[in-house]
Amino acid sequence: MWDVIIAGGGLAGLVNGIILAEAGIHTLLIEKKDYPSHKVCGEYISNEVRPFLERKGLFPYSFKPPEISYFTLSSVHGKTSKTALDLGGFGISRYNFDHFLYLKGREKGLDFLLNTQVNSVNFDNDGFEVGLSNGQLVRSRILIGAFGKKSKLDKVLDREFTRKEAGYIGVKYHVRYDFPNDEIALHNFEAGYCGISKVEGDVCNVCYLSTRRLLRKYGNIEEMEREVLYKNPFLKDIFNHAEFLFKEPKVINEVSFEPKNPVENHILMSGDAAGLITPLCGNGMAMAIHSAKLLSSLIIPYFNQKGQTRAQLEKEYTQLWNAQFRKRLWVGRNTQKLFGGTLASGIAVNTMRFLPFAAKSIIKSTHGKVF
Ligand SMILES: Cc1cc2nc3c(=O)[nH]c(=O)nc-3n(C[C@H](O)[C@H](O)[C@H](O)COP(=O)(O)OP(=O)(O)OC[C@H]3O[C@@H](n4cnc5c(N)ncnc54)[C@H](O)[C@@H]3O)c2cc1C
Repeated sequence: MWDVIIAGGGLAGLVNGIILAEAGIHTLLIEKKDYPSHKVCGEYISNEVRPFLERKGLFPYSFKPPEISYFTLSSVHGKTSKTALDLGGFGISRYNFDHFLYLKGREKGLDFLLNTQVNSVNFDNDGFEVGLSNGQLVRSRILIGAFGKKSKLDKVLDREFTRKEAGYIGVKYHVRYDFPNDEIALHNFEAGYCGISKVEGDVCNVCYLSTRRLLRKYGNIEEMEREVLYKNPFLKDIFNHAEFLFKEPKVINEVSFEPKNPVENHILMSGDAAGLITPLCGNGMAMAIHSAKLLSSLIIPYFNQKGQTRAQLEKEYTQLWNAQFRKRLWVGRNTQKLFGGTLASGIAVNTMRFLPFAAKSIIKSTHGKVF
């Protein structure tokens, strides 16, 4: 019997696991893939998590991540506005960052089961029975759901958001392209937006959010890019002149920004499994790390101090999670409406140009305090 099982080893799962293992809690992390592997993500991390990562020895200095402090926005037809970011961030590929955290986890004594999927969860006798893709059943007192934005497990658990249409797709490339180290740009196109910023090794991440409707209309990714993304002159230039480093784009389907609950079926959800913020906010990774810090800090006294009930733990985590993240997700969902339309994206660019304080206030309300 494990104290804690973590389903999913992205940033939320890894950070939860590292903190719990450090505290001597007997923890198993189950990840369906292996490390290192690529993930669809813009790979810009907000500096709100930097002091925490530095304190815990989890900042990936060895990769010399570029520091990003300027933000450029372009409308569907390429009208731009640029602003300094109050907080800024850094760029690192998930390929290297997740692998770096995986090695840190092993150093701290965190146990891993890789290339294994959690297929089922059963809560009984005040504990969990977890069914795995290799046919094994494992048990734990606490189960952390860190299985990301979309997992088969969501359907198995019949989570409410899975009953609504998830209309977005995410596409990522790594490219070589002449782009400043200290900038992140977000270029609008019909029904979506595409980010570009540097990660380690002088490589650019190019990652966009589009819709399944648009993909269906054009039949394939390449055609959709040519017919839709290329209308923005910045994107046309990137796609025509960059050196593409992957053979194929990395793609995820059925992305949903519907609200979720931080605790479901007694599973304590962390990261995107608790709620996915729209990527334009550039802080889903920071939220995943922050939620893992909050959750693991509650689980440690649950094991060490005794006397606390499961109901109290669940209530406390729900309250903390809602206080920290629910409003940000709401602002992110509503700000996204200003993106991807010709008129709306023009208004967004003008707001940044002529009402910089209003734009900064929106950016601020989608971010948390530095911790
Ligand atoms: C297009 C796009 C661009 C983005 N750009 C940015 C950005 O620039 N900056 C930013 O901060 N955020 C960005 N985000 C959001 C960010 O990627 C996520 O918020 C972040 O990855 C959340 O981490 P996580 O650990 O919760 O989930 P993940 O990193 O997705 O990890 C979940 C893990 O669970 C595993 N898993 C799933 N199901 C199972 C199962 N049943 N059993 C075992 N393992 C399982 C998966 O293999 C995966 O490794 C973007 C998102 C999208 C869609």
